[in-house]
Amino acid sequence: MNDALLAKWMWKLKNPSFEGWWKDILMSKYAHCINRKRWSSFWCKLKKLEQMVNIHCSFELGDGRSIRFWHDKWVDQIPLKISFSSLYKISDNHDAKVLDVLIGGKLNISFNRHCSRMQYLDFLELQDRLQSFSCSNGADRIRWDMGSKGMFTSKTLYCWLDDRGVSDVAYGCIWKLKLSIKIKVFLWLVYKRRLLTRDVLMAKGWQGDVICCYCHHLESADHLFFQCSQHRRLWQWFLNRFDFHIRLHNMNDLIAFFNVTHKYWGPAVQIWCSAFLWIFWKCRNEITFHKGKVPSYRNMGSKVLALILYWSDLWDVGLKEQVFSLSPDLQELPIQLMDAVEE
Ligand SMILES: [Zn+2]
Repeated sequence: MNDALLAKWMWKLKNPSFEGWWKDILMSKYAHCINRKRWSSFWCKLKKLEQMVNIHCSFELGDGRSIRFWHDKWVDQIPLKISFSSLYKISDNHDAKVLDVLIGGKLNISFNRHCSRMQYLDFLELQDRLQSFSCSNGADRIRWDMGSKGMFTSKTLYCWLDDRGVSDVAYGCIWKLKLSIKIKVFLWLVYKRRLLTRDVLMAKGWQGDVICCYCHHLESADHLFFQCSQHRRLWQWFLNRFDFHIRLHNMNDLIAFFNVTHKYWGPAVQIWCSAFLWIFWKCRNEITFHKGKVPSYRNMGSKVLALILYWSDLWDVGLKEQVFSLSPDLQELPIQLMDAVEE
């Protein structure tokens, strides 16, 4: 409980709407002090809690003075240092504020080495992603993601601390996967229904279209990833070929399914399913933000295969063999899916 109470100090320090002499003193004494030996024990404890508070805070862009471009969540529910980790690694200023980077509709980022082709493509994607953001005159606004009103409460943090990793079976299933942190954060957000799907945006007051880009249902994480006909058929196809005659409705079903299959196939099934989810999300974003076409099943299947190949750089020989032994044959894809449609 102490941590949850102490975290309130950190929340007030980060929140521009809280002002006071105590804040001025702390900031003038420690904000630019990188020598930890000069930190008081109180400040040490606060800094230890900072990361935990950061995980649950998101920002609404105002003048961009208090939002850290790479570290804070202000574009998606994932900081840019994770969703664009390849660029973060080579950027010169990891602690830049949004105000310093978003200048006149352009990105002012300098890199400490030449970009590879992939990094250049990531840069273009980042540019695209930030097109709709610009700094205004108002102050930045901070939001506590765990409470309904966006304000910090020690109780919500205490509940999270109490529950974290102990009762959650999903915790082990997701965080131990040999995948990049970006994908694991994504899976965790799908599981927690915290990804910025249209229903979540609507709950935050967003006024845009809330209908799924493939059908006429409300877009939620459960719908988009599991129940939408566009993806349900691909799941059916993938699961049936292993004689898994089950229907997935949400991430809880998928986690339960992982627990059953783990003893036969190790993490290989989890990795394949993660690749499907990530490609579903990428295709949805392509349609939503770039007016892309609805991809064919074969196209989606090819993207999943390409992604698995790309990820396999992270794995040892044993895991590669396990994963590739489950590799689906795309040649079978159209016929099987046509059968599914006719049924
Ligand atoms: Zn749909």
